[in-house]
Amino acid sequence: GHAASDRLTAGLNPQQREAVEYRGQALLIVAGAGSGKTRVLTHRIASLIDGREAWPSQILAITFTNKAAAEMRERVEALLGEAAGGMWISTFHSACVRILRREAEAIGLSSTFTIYDSADQRTILKRIIKELDADTLGFTPASAQAKISKLKNELSDVETYARNVNTNDPNDVMFLEIFRQYTRRLRDASALDFDDLISETVYLFRAFPKVAALYQRRFRHILVDEYQDTNHAQYALIRELTRPVEPEVVAELDAHGVLVRGLTDATGSIPGASLTVVGDSDQSIYAFRGADIRNIVEFERDFPGAKVVLLEQNYRSTQNILSAANAVISNNFDRKDKKLWTADGDGDKITGYTGYSAHDEAQFVADEIEALHRAGVAYRDIAVFYRTNAQTRALEEIFVRSALPYRVVGGTKFYERAEIKDAMAYLIAVANPLDELAIRRILNTPKRGIGPATETAIASFAEQNDLSFRQAMRAADGLGLGPKVTKAILELATLLDAAAAMLVPSQKGIDEGTNEGASKVSEVLAFLMEGSKLVETLRASRDPQDETRAENVEELVAQTKDFDRENPGAGLVDFLTQVSLVAAADELDDASGTVSLMTLHTAKGLEYHAVFLTGLEEGLLPHQMSASEPGGPAEERRLFYVGITRARKRLYLSLAMSRAQFGEVSVAMPSRYLQEIPDELVDWKQSPGMANSRGGSQPRALNARRGFGGGGGGGGAWGTRDRDLERFSVTKSAAPKTEWANRVTGTVRDNGDLTLEAGDRIRHTDFGEGTVRQVTGEGTKRIAHVAFDAAGQKKLLIKIAPIEKL
Ligand code: ATP
Ligand code: MG
Repeated sequence: GHAASDRLTAGLNPQQREAVEYRGQALLIVAGAGSGKTRVLTHRIASLIDGREAWPSQILAITFTNKAAAEMRERVEALLGEAAGGMWISTFHSACVRILRREAEAIGLSSTFTIYDSADQRTILKRIIKELDADTLGFTPASAQAKISKLKNELSDVETYARNVNTNDPNDVMFLEIFRQYTRRLRDASALDFDDLISETVYLFRAFPKVAALYQRRFRHILVDEYQDTNHAQYALIRELTRPVEPEVVAELDAHGVLVRGLTDATGSIPGASLTVVGDSDQSIYAFRGADIRNIVEFERDFPGAKVVLLEQNYRSTQNILSAANAVISNNFDRKDKKLWTADGDGDKITGYTGYSAHDEAQFVADEIEALHRAGVAYRDIAVFYRTNAQTRALEEIFVRSALPYRVVGGTKFYERAEIKDAMAYLIAVANPLDELAIRRILNTPKRGIGPATETAIASFAEQNDLSFRQAMRAADGLGLGPKVTKAILELATLLDAAAAMLVPSQKGIDEGTNEGASKVSEVLAFLMEGSKLVETLRASRDPQDETRAENVEELVAQTKDFDRENPGAGLVDFLTQVSLVAAADELDDASGTVSLMTLHTAKGLEYHAVFLTGLEEGLLPHQMSASEPGGPAEERRLFYVGITRARKRLYLSLAMSRAQFGEVSVAMPSRYLQEIPDELVDWKQSPGMANSRGGSQPRALNARRGFGGGGGGGGAWGTRDRDLERFSVTKSAAPKTEWANRVTGTVRDNGDLTLEAGDRIRHTDFGEGTVRQVTGEGTKRIAHVAFDAAGQKKLLIKIAPIEKL
C-alpha cells in the first residue's frame, strides 16, 4: 500500500519524483532557480519519515536561514499530517551551536560561551591593533577581521598559520601576532566568533572521534539546501558527519550504553549517513565569504557513486522572466548551459524604467506598487531589491510620503543599536562571567564614575593575579581606588552575581536536568535594568534621542517576554543564541501586509508575485568593489540572475541617471547586464517629467543604452537637469537611515494642522497642481487622495507631503 507515498509524490514531475525516491548514499540535485529544489528536499524528508525509513531524529537538514528552516519544518509536518519533533532542520550555524553547547567541555569551552558578532570582533581587533601599534603597518580592524575570517573558513588556525609565516615579512609577522592575540582573547572570554562555530565543530569531530561518532550514528540522512554557497569549513563538516563509524568506536559506544543495534552492517561498522545536496552554481553569490562552487562541481568525485538528478522545468516564473534570466546568465563562461523553461506561458513583458534621479526612480516604484495593489496584488507579495543598503534612502523617503506600507528587511538592525547592545551585554555578562568584552561594555554604562584609568587598573590587576576581569572586580577593595569608585564596582559585581543566582534551577530542576525554578529571561532582564538604572538614566536624559533609546530597551524587554512565552523551559543562553543567529531574511514576516525591501543577497531562495530590481547601474551592479576583482563581474551577474528569478509574474528593472553616493551626486551609467536582456522582452516606460525635459518620447533606457555602443544620442538624457536633481544635492548628506526617516517624518515638514477636504485644489512640489478627491485616516495619519492634473492619482500623507493649499 503506497497510498501515503503517492500522496507525497503527487504533484511532482518525474525528475523530482526520482529525487524524492532515490535511496542511495549520495544524491546531487543540480537545477536552475525555481525548479523545485527546496520542494524536493521537503518531500524527501517527509517520504523518509512516512515510509518508516527514518525517525525524525535521524534527519539533519541544513537551510540558508532560520526562517527557511521553520518553513521546511512546517511543510514536512503538513505533508505528514502530524508533528515530527526531533528533526534537526536549521542553518549550519545553529546546528553547530547546538552541538558545541553540548560538547563544549571536550574542547575546554564553557557551555554558556558567547557568540561574537562582527562589531564585537572589531572592538577586540581595534584594541589589539592599538596595543601592537599595528596601524603603522596599515592594519585596520576591518582588514584583520576579513583575513582572519578567510583563514577560518579555510580551516587554517593560528598554529597552521605560524608554521607557514614568512618571517622576513614584517606584515606577515604582525598579522600572526594579531591573529594569535585575537584567538587568545576569545578563548579567555569563552567566546566564539561566527566562523569559529563551524571550524570549532570540525576540530571537535576530528579530535574526538567518539564525540563525532555520536552524531554520525544519530544522523542517518543529511540534506543540504543552497549547497553552492557552502565554504570549505562547511564542506569539511559535512564530510565529518557522513563518515562511517569504525567497529572499535561502535564497540565503545555500545559499552557506554549508546544504542547501536540495528545500525551496524556486516563488518560491524555503522555506515555513513546518506547525503542529499541541492544547488545551482548559477546562484553562487557568497564567494566573497569563502563559498566555493567547486563543492558542487566536485561532488561526484568526493562522493563516488553519487546519483545526479537534473531539474529543468521552472514552476515559479513566466517565460519572459525566464528568458531574461537565461539570456543574462549565458554570458558567464565556465558553466554548463542549462535553460529554464515553464509550461505556464510568456506572461507580461518586463517593465523597464530609467529615472533621472534616485527619487524619480523611487517614485516610479511607488506608483507601480500602488497600481499593482489596486489590481489586487497584496503588498506582502511585492519586493524591492537593491545591491547596497544605502539605496534604501530614496525609496524610503518616497514610500513614506506616498503612505505606502513597507519594511526594510535586515535594515533595522535592532540588535546593533548601542542601547540594545548595552542591555544585551548585561545579560551576556550574567550568562558568561568570563566574557570580558561584555563586562567592560557595561562597566560605566550608565555612568557610575568608573573611568578608563580604573578600567585599566582592574584589567592589569586581573592579569597579574591570573584572575578574570569579573573576579578582579570583586576584589576592588584591594585596588587602592577611591571609596566612591570602589563602591560602584562592587555594586555592579553584586548586581551581576545576584542576577546569575536567579538563573539557578530549583533542586527538582537540577535533579531532572530542567530549568524548573529558574527565573525567566524577561525577569532577569527586568531585574538588571532596574538594578543598573539603565532605562531610568535614559529617561532622565535631556538628549531627545535618549527617549527613543529607552523605548528600544523596553522593546527588548517585551521581546524577552515573547521568548519566554514561546519557549517554555528555555533559558538565558537559548535567548542569547537566538539573538546571535538571527539573519536578515529571518526578519521577514509573511503575515504583515507590507512591501519588502532588501538586498539582492538577502533575496536568495525567496519568491514574490512582483519584483523590482532597482539601481541597475554601473558601480552598483556590478558593484565598484567587485568590478575589478577577478571573478567579480561574473559573481555580480549571478546576483542579478538571483534577483530576476525571484519574480513570479511581474518583473521591473529600473535605474537612475544620477545618484548621490558618499555625499556626491554623480552621473550614472546603465548596468552592463541590462544590455544582455533581449529588447523584445522589455517594455521601457516614460515618466512625465522626462518627456518635458527632453521633449521627446524615446524609450529612455534604450536611449541611455546607446551610450554603450558609442552610437550617440544618450548624451541628452544624461545631461538632463531638473528640479529634482537640485533638491537632491541639498539633501546629499549620508545620514543613517533612521535619522533620514526621522527627518522626513518629523523635522523637515509638518502640515499637521492643514485641513483638506474633497474638492480642494493643492500644489505639490513635484507633481504640480491637483484636486483632492478624498481624505481618509485620522490625526497624523491623514491621507489625501489627489488627482493631479499631470501626474495622475497619488496618495499623500498630509502631515509631511510637500504641498500647499491653493
Ligand atoms: P531557488 O533556486 O530559487 O531556491 P528552488 O529550485 O528551490 O528555487 P522551489 O522554491 O522549491 O525552487 O520551487 C519554486 C516554486 O515552484 C515554489 O513555489 C514551489 O512550490 C513550486 N513548485 C516546485 N515544483 C512544483 C511542481 N512539481 N508542481 C507545482 N509547483 C511546483
Ligand atoms: Mg530553493
